Amino acid sequence: MESGYGLFIDGRWSTPPKSKRFVTKNPATGETVGSFVSGTAEDAQRAVGSAARAFPGWRDTPAPRRGEILLEAARRMRERKSDLGRLVTCEMGKVIGEGLGDVQESIDFLEYIAGEGRRLAGETVPSELRSKFCLTVRQPKGVVACITPWNFPTAIPNWKIAAALVTGNTVVFKPASNTARCAAEVVKVYEQAGVPPGVLNFVTGPGGVVGNALVSDPRVRAVSFTGGVATGREVYALGAEGLKMVHLELGGKNPVLLMDDADLPLALDGVLFGAYGTSGQRCTATSRLIVHEKVYAAFLEMLVERLEEFAVGDPLDPATGMGPVASADQERKVLEYIALGKKEAKLRYGGKKLTGGLYDRGYFLEPTIFETKHGTRISKEEIFGPVLSVIRVGTYEEAVRVANDVDYGLSSSIYTSDVNRAFRAIHDLEAGITYINAPTIGAEVQLPFGGVKHTGNGGREAGSVAIEEFTEIKTVFVDFSSKLQKAQIDAE
Ligand code: NDP
Repeated sequence: MESGYGLFIDGRWSTPPKSKRFVTKNPATGETVGSFVSGTAEDAQRAVGSAARAFPGWRDTPAPRRGEILLEAARRMRERKSDLGRLVTCEMGKVIGEGLGDVQESIDFLEYIAGEGRRLAGETVPSELRSKFCLTVRQPKGVVACITPWNFPTAIPNWKIAAALVTGNTVVFKPASNTARCAAEVVKVYEQAGVPPGVLNFVTGPGGVVGNALVSDPRVRAVSFTGGVATGREVYALGAEGLKMVHLELGGKNPVLLMDDADLPLALDGVLFGAYGTSGQRCTATSRLIVHEKVYAAFLEMLVERLEEFAVGDPLDPATGMGPVASADQERKVLEYIALGKKEAKLRYGGKKLTGGLYDRGYFLEPTIFETKHGTRISKEEIFGPVLSVIRVGTYEEAVRVANDVDYGLSSSIYTSDVNRAFRAIHDLEAGITYINAPTIGAEVQLPFGGVKHTGNGGREAGSVAIEEFTEIKTVFVDFSSKLQKAQIDAE
């Protein structure tokens, strides 16, 4: 299914002369999926120029019209759902149900945010003076850079691009290099839906080159970034030099708290899905299971028993539970953590690279469980793979202490049948998201998404707050008294 792509600048797909190329590979088979331009800083700057020229026209396009174009993109995405879902699976490796889910999330968000074209609400508030009217309006920021990771190769780009466009910004999109074909197909959907030339631009190439050039370009007024903490820090610092708004969505070390009064079979399904869905490569993946000692032994038995039957294999086969990890780099990193875990904790299940037959063609790992004390590196650092750290605790209070004692704060979950305890957990857990009796994964587009501590820098994506990231608020005073009125001085 290999295909060659150019850059998309000024509404045209083109390949700059003498440009270098790179390819993406199917992590299950090693087959080439697509070939792309390895863009340069100059390509990034051309794309920013195109976005800057298109900005005045797009800013003045009525917001409901901008929303209609996004609705058309949603319709086209729905028409292509099955081929795009398959592409997600072939380029990134998540199982086909999740590949289709990735595309569905894109459709859901496009439909949701298109409606924002008819809202974009400001405030009206009273003035302290007579015959004076006070309100706020939202205005776009200008040219926005959207830099995305590979784990949700259609959904995360759509979260960013659609929210930026409906609010009147123009965009330069730089996708993760190893899912560039999914990204290119997303751009084609917007192009075909009628996004005018220059409003959305697409530059592939190394993050350190293209991403860097975008973040440091003075014409880029805002950066929306999802990825690793180290890169996020770099992007934040570079953006700060230009005093631009930088929105960061980074990693997680998400706990499930399993209490002694939990519905264990329900929790079992949730932990399996949370820990091993997308081969553990979700920023919201369940990477820690914090278990009350009264149910510890029994639950671990149940977990191991289910993993014995857990099918790891061809991600296109609907019967497969877990596909490969996304790349050779991912495999190496996860295996390093597994080696570390073998030294500092007790390996309870898995821990090996799978070999033989189809496994030899891709990056397949066993779903892995470590029993560990809180405080080991595997219990505190983000692994981003199918590795679950299980930690025994004696009380709810200890569980919360352990849950909160990490650098991250994205998602969290508690399984309990005590409603008071559930509400306490909502209050106690340091995380942007808390699930009650459900796994740590399962975001819905109509709700805000993001986290605390090193997971981000305070913003949220999706939900009605998605537009905050991409708008400036202008405060307006309309004085219809026909005389000079002085706030604070003339007030009655
Ligand atoms: P990276 O942070 O390496 O990459 C994310 C994006 O940033 C990619 O598009 C990448 O481009 C680009 N990039 C890389 N370097 C720079 C730079 N110096 N300036 C600007 N952009 C840059 O993350 P990965 O995708 O490799 O994933 C690694 C980690 O990211 C995971 O282990 C996890 O911690 C985290 N992650 C978090 C997610 C979340 O949703 N919160 C989602 C996915 C990952 P290129 O691909 O060309 O390098």
